[in-house]
Amino acid sequence: MAITPLPQSDAVPERPIKILLVEDERALREALADALTSEGFIITQAENGAAGLAAFRAAPPDLILLDLMLPEMGGIEVCRSIRSSSQVPIIMVTAKASETDRISGLDLGADDYVTKPFSSRELIARIRAVLRRAEAGANPVAVGSRLRIAEAEVDVEGQRVLRDGVAVHLKPKAFQLLAFLIENAGRVYSREQLLDKVWGYDYAGETRTVDVHMHALRQAVEAIPAEPVALQTVRGIGYVLRRPA
Ligand code: CA
Repeated sequence: MAITPLPQSDAVPERPIKILLVEDERALREALADALTSEGFIITQAENGAAGLAAFRAAPPDLILLDLMLPEMGGIEVCRSIRSSSQVPIIMVTAKASETDRISGLDLGADDYVTKPFSSRELIARIRAVLRRAEAGANPVAVGSRLRIAEAEVDVEGQRVLRDGVAVHLKPKAFQLLAFLIENAGRVYSREQLLDKVWGYDYAGETRTVDVHMHALRQAVEAIPAEPVALQTVRGIGYVLRRPA
């Protein structure tokens, strides 16, 4: 049987990736900058939080490596400040695994965490993984498009569901659940996976939460909510969104 290579339709033009490195320990910062530069990244260094924010505003990077323990303005504050205006990928650097547990629970919006000491190889792998995720999440569907889901039109960008041209009231989490399933149409997810993906891994809720939101979504989009054609239950597993080809 002939094996056809996958089409490279999502290939992006090669361009240097710019990384802002915010770290107050000079020796570590310079060692990281050297390691990343030799991998082809363009590095801007900042030695404290204020300098990091200034550098971020002056020339937005593709990714930020942000130390947690910085003098004066700490990494948490810097992360919050950046997140108020930007979804740029952020990897937080912590000195202890226990710090990582604590700050990842704060829901700062960091994309990943690395704990010192780490190898440059490990860090580069994390950087590439975060950049890939950011790239994939950037355009799940064409901007401004509306998708037909059963009886409804979903305006993904506007975060609205329209039924006969009228916006249906949905809680934000219900919309996020719908958007996630649209982005991953055809894939079956367990309730636990959906809690993890949509509510976040540190959400201490129950899987029944997913059922409640799914019920609301079916009411919003299905002709007969008890006999869904799009938002289907997979017995013993979870849910899947099926769209006509
Ligand atoms: Ca530090």
